[in-house]
Amino acid sequence: MMNKEELLFRGGAEDALSGKKVLLIGCGSVGSEIADKLGAAGVGSLSIVDPDEYSPSNIYRHLLDSRWLFEPKSLAVSYQLMSKYPWLEANGIIYSLLNLRYQDILREFDLVIVAIGSPTQERIFQDFVAQNSINTPVIYTWLEGYGIGGHAVLDVPKSEGCLKCAYVDPENGRRGLASNLNFLEPDQEVVKNFAGCGEMFIPYGHLSSSQTALISTDLALKYLRGKQTESAKVSWKGDDDDVIDQGLKLSRRYSSFDKNLKVQSLCHPMCDVCSDQKFITYAGHGLKLRIPVSVAEELKSYRQEGSSDVESAGLLIGYGKDSTYTLYRITSPQKSDIQSRAYFKLDPAPHQKIVDEYFSSSDGLLGYIGTWHTHPQSIPSPSNLDLNDWLVHESENQDRQLFFIIIGTDELKIFGIIDGESVEFALEDDC
Ligand SMILES: [Zn+2]
Ligand SMILES: [Zn+2]
Repeated sequence: MMNKEELLFRGGAEDALSGKKVLLIGCGSVGSEIADKLGAAGVGSLSIVDPDEYSPSNIYRHLLDSRWLFEPKSLAVSYQLMSKYPWLEANGIIYSLLNLRYQDILREFDLVIVAIGSPTQERIFQDFVAQNSINTPVIYTWLEGYGIGGHAVLDVPKSEGCLKCAYVDPENGRRGLASNLNFLEPDQEVVKNFAGCGEMFIPYGHLSSSQTALISTDLALKYLRGKQTESAKVSWKGDDDDVIDQGLKLSRRYSSFDKNLKVQSLCHPMCDVCSDQKFITYAGHGLKLRIPVSVAEELKSYRQEGSSDVESAGLLIGYGKDSTYTLYRITSPQKSDIQSRAYFKLDPAPHQKIVDEYFSSSDGLLGYIGTWHTHPQSIPSPSNLDLNDWLVHESENQDRQLFFIIIGTDELKIFGIIDGESVEFALEDDC
């Protein structure tokens, strides 16, 4: 007799996952391996959806063996996995992604995984999920050709970050057709016509689909175990030899990306679904600084209104396009900072660490754009200490304009250093 608890435990699988229900849409080379790994991890129930039959061209990059040729992939994988994992309940459904737009069905699952590699269909599906307030999280995963890499995005409703965040074009803030996670430049001819028989495919090997299945399953298990509760993204980055041989161009992200396999925040600062798009604007000297209303409120919450309130300070994190800068986040006072009534000593290390995390998860879009601090004055004016401090910051960051915010008890003032002189930016009227 087989003892379930003992076998699961000895195999490294988890009993805690046996109550979880996962809907896997897409059972090709990536999807079938995800199914196998979820089964091995001890996930209890797996519904596998795919409209296609297992064809000879699949054999060298698919979980199934050739006995299953010309059978529906979803059914074949379900049968194969149920005989491999005795306590897995798997069922195959011969459907496509867009047939699954049924709220009641989607709500039954703990997690949906979409492994079809079609951004257009995924977008329509995600719109349906969002419009109907379906709270089931969805993982979207895809790989790129020639072994260059693969990606997985976890969209947890009501948390920061959504599928659109992975498609915002950082040049203009609009939703692009290609993901901003991709390592290949968009609009290149990556798809090949297989031996002229009309079957189109993206050239990649079995290892690429396995690696992509690994990062997706890792993300799925982190979510199912409660270790990952916010929307997230993860990529694996491969060698560029084959891409260069093919004369294909790499994206800017490929060269800067150094967070292989690391789960990062999905939230894109320019996504209009996820970030505050109501701004107050300060302008002057040919420059603008946009501050989201929510961030302005956060800054004001540090006002030194009480007679014993201490000074607070932190860094400004944002991005600049042409002469318009956008403040995205501020760092708050950290434990190792020294705060008193009219003095603040900022410990740079923990603040810089926060800036670095935003820099990395935004692929270099977000960075340090200045400082903020409070004064116990109603209308604040910079001290000599402030001016000297700003001159140092400005000289160390010649590549960008910096902004310096002082929060008084009644007013908030924004300054900058231009040509070695302190200048003030004025609040623009709402229009
Ligand atoms: Zn978003
Ligand atoms: Zn000051």
